[in-house]
Amino acid sequence: MDTLWSSTSFDKKYKELDKDLDIDILIIGGGITGLNIAYNLLNEREKIVLVEANRVGSGVTSRMTGKISYLQGCYYDIYKKYGRTITKKYFLSQLEAIEIIKRIIADNKIKCNFEKTISYLYTDNYKYLNRLKQEENILRDIGCILEKGTKKDFLYSIKVFDTYTFHPLKYLYSLKKIISKKIPIYENTRVLGIEKYNEYYLVKTDKGIIKTKRVVLANFYPNFIKPFFMPLKVTLQKSYIGVSSSEMHNYTTLSVDNKQSSMRFYKDKNINYKIYSYGNVNISNENNMSKRFLKLKRDNYNYLWSNMDIMTGDFMPFIGRLDKNLYIATGYNTWGITNSILSGKIIGDLIRGDSNKYEGLFNPKRKIYKNTFLAVTSSFKAYLKELIYHNKSWYHGRITFQDNKAILSDGVDKHVVLSKCPHMGCNLVYNEVEKTWDCPCHGSRFSALGNVICGPSNKNIKVENDKKN
Ligand SMILES: Cc1cc2nc3c(=O)[nH]c(=O)nc-3n(C[C@H](O)[C@H](O)[C@H](O)COP(=O)(O)OP(=O)(O)OC[C@H]3O[C@@H](n4cnc5c(N)ncnc54)[C@H](O)[C@@H]3O)c2cc1C
Repeated sequence: MDTLWSSTSFDKKYKELDKDLDIDILIIGGGITGLNIAYNLLNEREKIVLVEANRVGSGVTSRMTGKISYLQGCYYDIYKKYGRTITKKYFLSQLEAIEIIKRIIADNKIKCNFEKTISYLYTDNYKYLNRLKQEENILRDIGCILEKGTKKDFLYSIKVFDTYTFHPLKYLYSLKKIISKKIPIYENTRVLGIEKYNEYYLVKTDKGIIKTKRVVLANFYPNFIKPFFMPLKVTLQKSYIGVSSSEMHNYTTLSVDNKQSSMRFYKDKNINYKIYSYGNVNISNENNMSKRFLKLKRDNYNYLWSNMDIMTGDFMPFIGRLDKNLYIATGYNTWGITNSILSGKIIGDLIRGDSNKYEGLFNPKRKIYKNTFLAVTSSFKAYLKELIYHNKSWYHGRITFQDNKAILSDGVDKHVVLSKCPHMGCNLVYNEVEKTWDCPCHGSRFSALGNVICGPSNKNIKVENDKKN
């Protein structure tokens, strides 16, 4: 699954866990969340370790678009739900996060193509014109400095001037080097389960046991924490990204319509790229991803990939304390850079025993009933749909592979992959373009030959050698 980011950056592999540990703080997950949290704990005296199931940056962070922006198209929705004070607080949190990341990049001289850009929020559709104008009014009311866009390409747009873009993996790999000088990072070390005892947790990994006083869950999907019903508070949305050669421009765009098209530019070694994404569809609707990619493929894209993010129902993340010594950071509603920066600050403060002004705002225990309903119905819908359509189309059910190409199991055979998700038994959908098996219920992904790429599943899918050969 090469992306523009993985093809234009390099990172050294770190060793896996090779012994049992007795430590103070364990951070699970080496994406932008885990690393921003670890960065905030660099000056602590406690024994801290970070474990990553695959390689640092191999999760959804490697498949984002890399916009660092507060123009997120969500303020009208937050306002409708919570009113002006909370909306303004969320807006200010995003501005603060941008200042923090600017400082991290400057202080550490991180080379990650960090550029200031203009950002547009637009619509091309009369149906969404009113929605955009409402967003504009609220933004002005909470103190956002913006202008009406003058670009003729859009029906209506607003623009701001102080947003940024970067190369997400160059940022992450630099942070990894800085952090690992003080905090050991173990790659290819997958957490399989967490058991709570009175004063500590026992964390079982595939490489050893870690006894730890505190656990920070930065592993994207909120599993491992049954008593808190977190999976019932989140849904997953998928988008499709295409990268093509292009002229270079210094702006980014985001539409307010329900497909949320997004675009930015990137320059690497004198080659200019346009990065375009669209979709934002609930994963339970994605049983024919090839069709979505087809739209992109026709335009001769250099790179194609899909990505998903966790949505919370009130457009604000879940960051903070779940239990006395258990912390979580997830649910970024596609704005993972600013919100993971805030995760670092909030969880860092809580661990140090300091207060943080956003603790209440992002409290992971807040109740969002609408999303619980959506989470249950969408995963049940996906389960039923895949049950009905299983084996009806060529890429479902038991399939075989030749030269990494999926073919029907009664063709010329090499392997048989049983396409059931080991997490909760949902039938998997084959993603022809990226050669992955994707779970339409909870978002686990597996390589064509069954190796788990991202959870909640902790197991590979079963592969049998075909007896006929
Ligand atoms: C199409 C799209 C575009 C986006 N573009 C942007 C953008 O332009 N700007 C922006 O701000 N946000 C963007 N986002 C959102 C952003 O990508 C995510 O919110 C963010 O990357 C989440 O980071 P994370 O560290 O929480 O997750 P991840 O990057 O997935 O990191 C979690 C890590 O935990 C590891 N892990 C999982 N399970 C275990 C286990 N059992 N044991 C050990 N390790 C484990 C995984 O391997 C992974 O590396 C976009 C999202 C989408 C869908």
